[in-house]
Amino acid sequence: MYPRIIINQKKLVENANTILDMARNNNIPYVTTVVKAFAGDVTILSTLKEAGIKCIGDSRLQNLKLFKHLDFRHKMLLRIPMISEVDDVIRYSDISLNSELSVIKALNKAAKEQNKKHDILIMFDLGDLREGIYYKSDYISIINEILKLDNILIRGIGTNLTCYGGLVPSKEIFERLITIKLNIENSCGIKLEIISGGNSSSVTLFDKNIIPKEINHLRLGESILFGKETSYSTLIEGLHHDVFSFEAEIIELKDKPSYPDGEISINSFGLKPDIEDKGNMKRAILAIGKQDTILSNLKPLDESISIIGGSSDHLILDVTKGNYKIGDVIAFKINYPALVHLMNSNYIAKLYK
Ligand SMILES: *Cc1c(COP(=O)(O)O)cnc(C)c1O
Repeated sequence: MYPRIIINQKKLVENANTILDMARNNNIPYVTTVVKAFAGDVTILSTLKEAGIKCIGDSRLQNLKLFKHLDFRHKMLLRIPMISEVDDVIRYSDISLNSELSVIKALNKAAKEQNKKHDILIMFDLGDLREGIYYKSDYISIINEILKLDNILIRGIGTNLTCYGGLVPSKEIFERLITIKLNIENSCGIKLEIISGGNSSSVTLFDKNIIPKEINHLRLGESILFGKETSYSTLIEGLHHDVFSFEAEIIELKDKPSYPDGEISINSFGLKPDIEDKGNMKRAILAIGKQDTILSNLKPLDESISIIGGSSDHLILDVTKGNYKIGDVIAFKINYPALVHLMNSNYIAKLYK
């Protein structure tokens, strides 16, 4: 049963619906709920489906394959595809984000073979320097090449911000995308239906009259899951911030010194430990370790507890001020990276609420 992650699905669904309303109030009618942090969890996806969530996005095809039997309006592949996986992109996603002409041509061929049409959004890099055609480069010739492909439909364009370079969305940054939209529409004679203005970092601009009216779609994960925008990491009022929590069990509890006793070399991760001498303390070891998550991404709910460190399978806590015993369970708040790691660990149980 332990260690386990606790998933409050009711709060998750409420957050998803509240964010959809907030987006609509900001003239953004389309939101894709990004579910990649759930690592292919079919229980959660079924709940979202039952609750009426229409559009989902995942970065991994393996996950979309697991959701094959769940009938969403669209399943979006968020990570630009490997050319080696185009057959499965056509099979398991309805729309994919793309930036490479050769891959789009391979998608066209695969779609033809499967007798399908495949929708794409062309990704543009507005300066964050992760995926996308750089906004200053010549994209018109690429679009014209794509328009020759019979089984590919360009539904729109999109961008991703604040992921690699930490570029914060703003009116100026969005103008770069709007310029691209107008150039493509004027030069190529097509209408772009979807203008996808990024991820949870764009939620920062809600209710500020900054998001241009042309932006009509967002791809949102962390803001729904954790109730926060991600440009500045501030909590959003009206959303739940405790959809997830985590529990692990005490397997050793002893009074010990806080400073190693003898010559200090390196720890099991090859690093010289940086340990402060705080005198004697009551130390608890929990059955969870660096194999499962980055330990500093866990935050004990009992604020008198502090994390000392750990190794692959052990987490060491200072519980001097607490009144714990062997077998007690310590509860933690977790952040997005911890959720991703814990959902991907085979050693973590899940409790659905
Ligand atoms: C992960 C991802 C998102 C969602 O990001 P959040 O910050 O969780 O909202 C959107 N778009 C792409 C391409 C992604 O990879």
